Amino acid sequence: MSAAVPLDDPSGLPDSYWAATAPRGPEIQAFDGSEKAEVVVIGAGYTGLAAALHLAERGRSVLVLDANEPGWGASGRNNGQVVAALKHEPHEIEQHFGLERGAELIRTIGEGPDLVFGLIARYRMDCAARRSGILTAAHSASALSDLERRVEIWNRRGAPLKLLPRDDLEEASGTGFYAGGCLDPRGGAINPLGYARGLARAVIEQGGAIRQKAHVRSIRRAGSQWHVGTDRGGVTAETVVVGTNAYTGTFWPGLRKTFLPSRTPQLVSQPLGDNLARSILPGGQIMSDTRYLTVGVRMHPDGRLHMGGGNGTSGGETDALFAPLAEQARRLFPQLGEIHWQYRWSGFMAMTPDRYPRLFELAPGVGAALGYSGRGICTATILGRELGRWAAGEAPIDRLAMPASTFRTLPYYALRGPLVDWAVRYYGYRDRERTKA
Ligand SMILES: Cc1cc2nc3c(=O)[nH]c(=O)nc-3n(C[C@H](O)[C@H](O)[C@H](O)COP(=O)(O)OP(=O)(O)OC[C@H]3O[C@@H](n4cnc5c(N)ncnc54)[C@H](O)[C@@H]3O)c2cc1C
Repeated sequence: MSAAVPLDDPSGLPDSYWAATAPRGPEIQAFDGSEKAEVVVIGAGYTGLAAALHLAERGRSVLVLDANEPGWGASGRNNGQVVAALKHEPHEIEQHFGLERGAELIRTIGEGPDLVFGLIARYRMDCAARRSGILTAAHSASALSDLERRVEIWNRRGAPLKLLPRDDLEEASGTGFYAGGCLDPRGGAINPLGYARGLARAVIEQGGAIRQKAHVRSIRRAGSQWHVGTDRGGVTAETVVVGTNAYTGTFWPGLRKTFLPSRTPQLVSQPLGDNLARSILPGGQIMSDTRYLTVGVRMHPDGRLHMGGGNGTSGGETDALFAPLAEQARRLFPQLGEIHWQYRWSGFMAMTPDRYPRLFELAPGVGAALGYSGRGICTATILGRELGRWAAGEAPIDRLAMPASTFRTLPYYALRGPLVDWAVRYYGYRDRERTKA
């Protein structure tokens, strides 16, 4: 473990399918402490890059600092599911945020895939984007009733979700494991590292600057401005945007204690034979399920099966992290026989207790968004853009698309290791019990 790296992932990119297939990112220099900017953004994942892009498009001077490289964090490691939803149903969001702000947030989240695929098209990002819909599979009869309700609620709000009885879901997915499901045609799939690199390229094209190997150690007042300090020198700015999500370190007191970091696995097989490959998700959709420990499935155009989720840990990348996911693949697709996994990697999600993201004004001129709880491609792009609007002076923090959160650290943060591991065991048990029901 390098002392310069947040949490405990090595400073290079993992040996992932994304790293093997994404086009190279733009040339990015290391930070040398000589740059100046109106706005400094910490973190070159979707949050930081979307904020920087919004600012750069408006001609504002913006500098993004990353301890590693663009897409190094969850943005380059995830499953690539572009989902038009938070982890909550629309009526729950309205209960949580109130009718008016809740409705605004639901509308914005529903438009998330338009935003992401729109940016991809506008900046001609090469990231295997495919807008062929997202299947959600119900792991029990009661989960299917919940999905039925979800479809009704979204249909009433004008979103074209469609319920799929068991046989239709089996035909669409290639597995008979589930009780049924639904299709949301708004969503789709991307190469997530390609998208992060595409955003980085767009920021630079629009006149923003990105520097890597710049591990921020401190943010402190410097007169009316903020001084952002790294191991290689510092930079002073009027406004600071923080987009470090699960990899947040100690540069702002308590920020990392607002969520629990949970490491989640990804597995990609060797190419399957043509017939087998065609038997899984033949319509090109991507699929996730209703389990608390959600399992994600996608097929790549080169015939590889990609599985994600189904387990988590607060600790390192061990064989035990991947074993339950490999077992899920065998249960879902017994027709495959023995599966040879060519790539395996993992990354940290930032889980909040209520699974809503957090949007903070940490101090006047310092904004942060994090805690996406595994739904970050659209949400981080949206909240990054919103922080960009805030940093550009277009809207105060309490008028952005999501209401600002009250800053609260988790009282049990010191127990995060055992807590995450306990939660994974507990929810795994509940998922299994409910599957039997
Ligand atoms: C395995 C996995 C699968 C997922 N699957 C999906 C999915 O299919 N769909 C979906 O919507 N979401 C998914 N997510 C969630 C999604 O990937 C994240 O919510 C999103 O990428 C967060 O983006 P971000 O920019 O906020 O943070 P990150 O992408 O994690 O970027 C944070 C950046 O901050 C930098 N950094 C940290 N500390 C410092 C510091 N002190 N100084 C400088 N730089 C620093 C890091 O180097 C990193 O590059 C998944 C997440 C994981 C881990």
